[in-house]
Amino acid sequence: MKTLAPQQNLIAGERYAAASGATIEVLDPSDGQVFTTLPRSDARDVDAAVQAARAAFHGAWGRQTATERGRILSRLSALILQHHDELAELECGDTGKPMQQARADITACARYFEYYGGAADKLHGETIPYAQGSTVIAMRVPHGVTGHIIPWNYPAQIFGRSVGGALAAGNACVVKPAEDACLTPLRIAALALEAGLPPGALNIVCGLGIEAGAALAAHTGISHISFTGSPQTGTAVAQAAAVNHVPVTLELGGKSPQILFADADLDKAIPVVVNAIVQNAGQTCAAGSRVLIARSIYADVMGRLKARFEALNTGAGIANLDCGPLINRRQLNRVASMIEAATSDGIRVAARAKLAADAPAGGFFFPPMLLDAVPAQHPVAQGEVFGPVLAAFAFDTEDEAIELANGTPFGLTAAVWTRDGALQLRAAQRIEAGQVFINNYGAGGGIELPFGGMKHSGYGREKAFEGLRSFTTIKTIAIQHG
Ligand code: NAD
Repeated sequence: MKTLAPQQNLIAGERYAAASGATIEVLDPSDGQVFTTLPRSDARDVDAAVQAARAAFHGAWGRQTATERGRILSRLSALILQHHDELAELECGDTGKPMQQARADITACARYFEYYGGAADKLHGETIPYAQGSTVIAMRVPHGVTGHIIPWNYPAQIFGRSVGGALAAGNACVVKPAEDACLTPLRIAALALEAGLPPGALNIVCGLGIEAGAALAAHTGISHISFTGSPQTGTAVAQAAAVNHVPVTLELGGKSPQILFADADLDKAIPVVVNAIVQNAGQTCAAGSRVLIARSIYADVMGRLKARFEALNTGAGIANLDCGPLINRRQLNRVASMIEAATSDGIRVAARAKLAADAPAGGFFFPPMLLDAVPAQHPVAQGEVFGPVLAAFAFDTEDEAIELANGTPFGLTAAVWTRDGALQLRAAQRIEAGQVFINNYGAGGGIELPFGGMKHSGYGREKAFEGLRSFTTIKTIAIQHG
């Protein structure tokens, strides 16, 4: 990644360094080299952003009609597509994801603003039959100022889904992107001003989670928080918000299963199963990180998976291979130590992908890996690895498959592969997950599909109209007119 000028916060439409003047170095995960710095913001910067958002909510932004809000978001969507190459390069350099995936993410980000731009004036409340001589209106109103804490794995996409819905519903936003990847949110927020968004309606404050993120979660001027990231941080954010009685949407991790029943169409399933864990180097909350295989086809499936894993190539994002680096040294060490623990407990590595000969020496690479016959209670079967590691399990009966599928603390997404229609629906009903795919899988995609977790994967829904509703609350107006 070429060296960039130091990045700045965006508050009330203006660029600012952190009040403290402190900065954070940003590394390109593909070569480990510093290519820019971010403001290391603290509570003062967060407070300035919240005040700016409040002023916009009670001022120019709050006065826009829903139709006008929608038009601004639609213009932003078009501007994102006009700047597609520039944004994809930023996303690729900042996160290390292969260029093709970065391009798809920018397209998805534009689609979020297109979707929510179109939806802005189609969201309405209800009237309620009540007492004689009365009319009751249940209005959908924005929360006010919404806080958005965004992770590093899909900065552009998660920014689009979170901010797109919040702005469409009429909220003013303060965003704390991840310290490891925040270039596309900063750039897209500048494009939003060009699209006609009033200054202050969208503010970006960069910094460390424990400083800027914690200050945002605890700020008394925030009326709703949308958080995507680790379960531990989600707990901290929800606890901080609880003090102010602020509702939170939590999109946390997953340990998503793909169940291959004995009659599955393997020619269709296998490429999807591999992609669902290799995509974004496995750093996807909805990564398909477990494959549950009917014992009668276990050897066949493992043979096919092995061939595919061994053909995968890993390297710099810009090289556009199958898999890029992990986000940083800490994640690389974390993934490597989980795998070391698994192999020292006797779990067999059935296949390993290649590292490209020209992959830069300083990059945070972990070539994709397939683990064989993983014991269901082992930490590598239960916890999020957040790397390109697929754990395989065999099952004998339908009940056993469902028990395995539901046998982790998570419940985000799942897939069922079978030609048996009754089994498809039975399994989908029994699996504890926010999304169940049948004979397909859609980690990260599906802007029109409500998305969110059960169990430790979180609560609340994003994407689709459901996501838009999350960014509103109901105000009831009861009129007695005789
Ligand atoms: P994290 O949850 O700590 O960070 C996510 C966001 O929260 C970042 O913007 C971060 O700055 C912010 N944050 C951190 N601490 C905070 C606090 N106390 N208060 C408010 N905001 C805070 O994730 P991470 O440390 O970058 O990654 C660790 C693990 O999290 C990964 O290994 C993975 O398992 C998981 N993760 C999940 C997702 C997901 O999409 N579900 C995304 C990223 C990471």
